[in-house]
Amino acid sequence: MRPEFEVTILGNTSSIPVHGRNHTSQLIKLGSELMLIDCGEGTQMQLRRFRLKYSKINYIFISHLHGDHYLGLIGLLSSFHLARRSNPLTIFGPKGLDEIISTHFRWSNTQLTYSIDFHITTDDGLNLLVNTPQLMVYSFPLRHRLPTTGFLIKEKAGLRNLIKSKLETEKLPVEAIQSLRKGMDYIGVDGSFYPVREYCYPQEPTRTYAYCSDTIYWPELKEYIAKVDLLYHESTFLDAEKERAELTMHSTAGQAASIAAASSVKKLILGHFSSRYKDLNPMLDEAKPIFENVELSVEGETYQL
Ligand SMILES: [Zn+2]
Repeated sequence: MRPEFEVTILGNTSSIPVHGRNHTSQLIKLGSELMLIDCGEGTQMQLRRFRLKYSKINYIFISHLHGDHYLGLIGLLSSFHLARRSNPLTIFGPKGLDEIISTHFRWSNTQLTYSIDFHITTDDGLNLLVNTPQLMVYSFPLRHRLPTTGFLIKEKAGLRNLIKSKLETEKLPVEAIQSLRKGMDYIGVDGSFYPVREYCYPQEPTRTYAYCSDTIYWPELKEYIAKVDLLYHESTFLDAEKERAELTMHSTAGQAASIAAASSVKKLILGHFSSRYKDLNPMLDEAKPIFENVELSVEGETYQL
């Protein structure tokens, strides 16, 4: 059985939360691990609204320090405190976020019930942030008005499943079973050979998710996100506002689709829509001819990898 790997959109709007849309945040579940990417204002309300169990979040990743990406963080951290959380929480974010968090709790005279392990992210290349038996999380640079990073979540290959009929007819040494499940052929002391391909079912390919918000159209991005299974890319404007997109260092729907096509990703979801667009269908109309497998992100919707 493959572990669940899914992305739930909590907010997908930029600048001002209007048209019933909320500021950026998404909850990622991979097996037993729950992670939050960005935490705009209203994030904890959205987590409650969609009945998501968020007390188990162990990692929070903040892309950059524009308010629409992190102003919900202090509220969420405060609620963890009120719920008497004891598990440590790891936060990755740009320099300055640690100061913002500690300043708030210092002046509110709060001694948190849990510890925060804060790591500064940098936009200088691909950096490994988290490495567990199940997954790896990397940050990678985006091009925006502030230091900004995207995030790449990669599933690791789990243990392989042994072919049952083989186990019934042959008695395998324990060491052979351990080795085969890790995907390694085994040679016994007597020279007997147990190749993985004969004793294990073929393994399904591992999956990768990439998050890119906020960024100007930047073709070099493809070297970080090539062939991912799911790409969330910002689509703040339509091509008609290309100049404005460039000025504010954002992308258009057409540009997001071009990046997806150039990176040969499997699927693209668009987000971070400007408040100027009530109807988002023109975004889809613009992206589809360039990259067919594209959807508009919808708040409360869960996307499976
Ligand atoms: Zn921004």
